[in-house]
Amino acid sequence: IKEYDYLIVGSGLFGATFAHEMTKAGKKCLVIDKRDHAGGNIHCKKIEDINVHWYGAHIFHTNDKSLWDYVNQFTEFNRYTNSPIANYKGELYNLPFNMNTFYKLWGTKTPEEAKEKIAKQIEHLKITEPKNLEEQALKLVGPDIYEKLIKHYTEKQWGKSATELPAFIIKRLPVRFTYDNNYFNDKYQGIPIGGYNKIVEGLLKGCEVKLNTDFFADRNYWKGIANKIVFTGKIDHYFDNCYGELEYRSLKFEVEIHDTENFQGNAVMNFTDAETPFNRVYEHKHFEFGTQSKTVITREYPLKDVKNAEPYYPVNDERNMAILKQYQLLAEKEENVIFGGRLAEYRYYDMHQVIASALIKSKTELK
Ligand code: FAD
Repeated sequence: IKEYDYLIVGSGLFGATFAHEMTKAGKKCLVIDKRDHAGGNIHCKKIEDINVHWYGAHIFHTNDKSLWDYVNQFTEFNRYTNSPIANYKGELYNLPFNMNTFYKLWGTKTPEEAKEKIAKQIEHLKITEPKNLEEQALKLVGPDIYEKLIKHYTEKQWGKSATELPAFIIKRLPVRFTYDNNYFNDKYQGIPIGGYNKIVEGLLKGCEVKLNTDFFADRNYWKGIANKIVFTGKIDHYFDNCYGELEYRSLKFEVEIHDTENFQGNAVMNFTDAETPFNRVYEHKHFEFGTQSKTVITREYPLKDVKNAEPYYPVNDERNMAILKQYQLLAEKEENVIFGGRLAEYRYYDMHQVIASALIKSKTELK
């Protein structure tokens, strides 16, 4: 008889949700994480009494009432609404593209005027089958918005020219003909009061957790202590990169404390010109309407040299998807191991999606 029913590798939202559901059902779980904190990428660090989103700005949003209720069991959410500002060489524009953006760009005041302006901008381009991201964006919104708000931001993000990037990356661009700066269309949105750690603490309550513990340091030992393993780390690493490494885009975060109450007046500012080396600046206190006397900001830089960097965004191109398929075949054959979460499935998940996925997998287990 093994000591645990489940060994859960990774205390991010997937692992923590799975552990919560299983513990609630009376199963004995052990969660291990190689980092010195639980919560994976939603972890917040307290600096100057401000919850700093340590791995990038996180805004919870969903259309699903049951998922909204699920996270609200652990702490109440505030009414934060994401409305980023784009900064193009000192000119400020509202995002997502809406009537405020169009007014600032062209002085158009009615939806009809704005639609006409965009149609005129696109008309002469005659792009029918966009061959790359640049053509796709031009076809959707025309050259003014493309140049000031899309081109350089995207090129910095991917470290590639927009003409070398595939068109499918931006199938759609949110264009709104109302004066509504709310970035998300979802019914429910907010930031947990007291920060994301409250959610993680709630999920992991009553569950054994070991930090600073890497599964790969002694995988035979870890395999021996539980009937089943839930693995939320990198799938390629699990199989010793036998088909090659899956590629990720990465980011570098620089955190600064400023001796001022209010640095930029908004939680998220995107820098959409080519010259500014960072893509976004977050001012964390604005996620929680903070009134502290100091402020903490993070500059988010796209990382070109991704070797040994933290993996953030999967690169879902043909090469990587073909490699992934091979790993998935091995994963299907791996007995008593459940692969879940963004790294084990090599897919971009929003928070509500990764919780939903963990809930489905835990329900299947309990059947
Ligand atoms: P993770 O949080 O990465 O957890 C995996 C855990 O496994 C980590 O703690 C890791 O240390 C651990 N681990 C890995 N390998 C091992 C090992 N060998 N041994 C032990 N432990 C291991 N979602 C939203 O809904 N809204 C947002 O605004 C939003 N913003 C985002 C911004 C950025 C920059 C990024 C990158 C993501 C954002 N997301 C957002 C997505 C969100 O972060 C994910 O949905 C969520 O964190 C995924 O949880 P996870 O458990 O799958 O993975």
